[in-house]
Amino acid sequence: MTIQTANLGFPRIGKNRELKFALDRYFAGKLSQKELIATANDLQLRHWKLQAEKGIDIIPSNDFSFYDHVLDHAVMVGAIPQGYGWASGPVALESYFALARGTTGSNQALGIDPEANWQDNMPALEMTKWFDTNYHYLKPEFSKNQVFVLTENKPLQAFLSALEIGIKTRPVLLGPVTFLKLGKVHGERFDPLTLLDRLMPIYGQILSELAAAGADWVQMDEPCFSLDLSEFERQCLLDCYSKLAEAVPEIFILVANYFGPFGDNLATALSLPIAGLHADCVRGSEELDLLLKEAPDSMTLSLGLIDGRNVWRADLDRLDALLQPVQKRMHLLSPLTKRTDRDIQVSPSCSLIHVPVDATCEAELELGLRMGLAFATQKLEELTVLGMAISGNRNEVETQIGASLQALMARRSLKSCHDKSVRQRITNLSPDMYWRKSRYPERHRVQQLKLDLPAFPTTTIGSFPQTAEIRQARADHRKGVIEDGAYRSFLRDETKRAIFWQEAIGLDVLVHGEFERNDMVQYFGEKLSGFAFTQRGWVQSYGSRCVRPPIIYGDVSRKAPMTVDWWRYAQSLSSKPVKGMLTGPVTILNWSFVRDDLPRADVCSQIALAIRDEVQDLEKAGAKIIQIDEAALREGLPLQKANWRAYLEWAVEAFRLASSGVTDETQIHTHMCYSEFNEIIDAITALDADVISVESSRSNMELLEVFSDRKYPNEIGPGVYDIHSPRIPTKEEILDLVALALERLDPKQIWINPDCGLKTRQWREVRPALVNMVEAAVQMRVNAAKAGNEAAQ
Ligand code: GLN
Ligand code: ZN
Repeated sequence: MTIQTANLGFPRIGKNRELKFALDRYFAGKLSQKELIATANDLQLRHWKLQAEKGIDIIPSNDFSFYDHVLDHAVMVGAIPQGYGWASGPVALESYFALARGTTGSNQALGIDPEANWQDNMPALEMTKWFDTNYHYLKPEFSKNQVFVLTENKPLQAFLSALEIGIKTRPVLLGPVTFLKLGKVHGERFDPLTLLDRLMPIYGQILSELAAAGADWVQMDEPCFSLDLSEFERQCLLDCYSKLAEAVPEIFILVANYFGPFGDNLATALSLPIAGLHADCVRGSEELDLLLKEAPDSMTLSLGLIDGRNVWRADLDRLDALLQPVQKRMHLLSPLTKRTDRDIQVSPSCSLIHVPVDATCEAELELGLRMGLAFATQKLEELTVLGMAISGNRNEVETQIGASLQALMARRSLKSCHDKSVRQRITNLSPDMYWRKSRYPERHRVQQLKLDLPAFPTTTIGSFPQTAEIRQARADHRKGVIEDGAYRSFLRDETKRAIFWQEAIGLDVLVHGEFERNDMVQYFGEKLSGFAFTQRGWVQSYGSRCVRPPIIYGDVSRKAPMTVDWWRYAQSLSSKPVKGMLTGPVTILNWSFVRDDLPRADVCSQIALAIRDEVQDLEKAGAKIIQIDEAALREGLPLQKANWRAYLEWAVEAFRLASSGVTDETQIHTHMCYSEFNEIIDAITALDADVISVESSRSNMELLEVFSDRKYPNEIGPGVYDIHSPRIPTKEEILDLVALALERLDPKQIWINPDCGLKTRQWREVRPALVNMVEAAVQMRVNAAKAGNEAAQ
């Protein structure tokens, strides 16, 4: 038996976001392709060396990507739609980025082969979330007569580059089943998995070439094992790995599952004829024993014990204890095979791309908190300790376990981790706090009296364009170049202009514009106790875009009102209602790194109470309408359906706790920027918001079907303006969408609003678009009045 430490993937962006800056400069024409490639090579070398220095035995390669690893795979196997400048052979970087970002400029201008199939203005591939992470991948597109070819063996190149510096890596590939499953089809509808037979020869070729170059192992990521799989999908996994193992016996295949337990797919995983299996032993901790017991002796197990999804140092003491059975088995001879027990690898639960690079950069954080953090680099160190824990270098292990316990204690004894008054409030929560005073019909009646809104009321979702000027002012303020007072008055002027303009064009319910907010979660996090913000805790969201998620480490409470002053100022400028604008508890939770010593549901209740306080203060200040955005409620859904119910239950409770402390007269809005509600409509109804705005313009109001089928009782604002596109919708287009909405909803239920906030748009787009939207609403009222008169005659 051997014990090895293995890593599954290292962050690509670099400690100082080198990749991001290189990409941005390259896209702006300020960096040559050669320089971009040099940066990429440099990052890979640096990360390989770092992992070697930290004592990692099995170091991944091909975990690097210029933009996205799923796109890399699509490009590698020639799944490239027409128009992006590729016909055969290696794919130019221009084509690769065109798939990622859309084509701009003609091929001549870019110096691309005039023969190549390049069209100007091709859209980017669709981008979507990678499982339940905040990383986004580009959706491969397949056609029914898809032909796969190996355009270039990228894993081989990566393997050879690492070999040059003397490191024999384990190349990472996205497994064929997950790859196909993540894609979408164009043209005729079919299951992309039916293309598996055509794809397998390509994988066979990649693996043989790797084996010929001296690779011993390859890591094939199949996180689809964490999903609910059909019998057909399981069969696909069995078939393809049987074929691959048979076709290329000279290389060991490790299939990696992460982001959840195998669940019902465990038997399939264990019967794959492969050399190794990686399991996420953080999210699938309950399967560890079973795996050790049931996996064939010949199957190497990679135990993903270090959490790759969170920023906390591991409890090494607990993991050491967990590994005791493994240690004991190590000395047993299996009676049947007469060989020592299986080989074990200890690893992070998943690739480390979901955590920042190095926690030692965070010198500004409170000591106890800083001690408790482990980013990718620190997680490698923890792996090394676990490796020793099994192989028996006990002295060193004990020292490290001691240090880990000390760090854990330091973090948990931070004053802010346990706030008595917060705990007391949670204990004292009473059932009535989750309920509005009256049911919706009664609330609707009194709200109608108070607000006196016209039919088809118009509003927007909250933010107005964050112009270059605003971003500059914010940066200057942060750097101390402009003072608080000057910054504030600048923001007030922006707010004032936005309010006056909304009045002028005739919107019914106004917003203050959110100019003071950097981000809808960060803004609140910075004002709440229990949150910390890093200096360099960047994580890749997609391509060159990185985010710095807040870290919830302590009990959450509100120090002071967070939005009331801005709201009050905005409302003082208008006699029309201005919405109070808040981010909901579930969204704040889902977009943060969350403490691991309290259940997520409990953390969510604490945030909900803080938001509830704000809601009540807004009401006290005179707000008649308060919107609580839950943009991330849906994306927090667990990967396996069996766990949905529990999540939705506490998520809905948190929203209700946040929103129910007001009188019947106060109208609660919520907003969700997605368009798939079919499977969660009961939870949406249970939120009991008076008005919900949703994204619907792109789907042509199809999503409203479920609201109508299930007789959704409250009001709805289906988005009639696609804010993701620079296109300006005409009044007629908006009227068409409203007509479609009317086929499914009662006219009394309908609000007229855009799909989402307008912060990413330009004023020159927003102005005409909203004018058209208001005109469409006016037209609807005229039509309705006419119809009413005719009916009366
Ligand atoms: N109120 C927020 C805004 O308008 C909502 C953003 C979101 O849902 N993503 O920007
Ligand atoms: Zn939105």
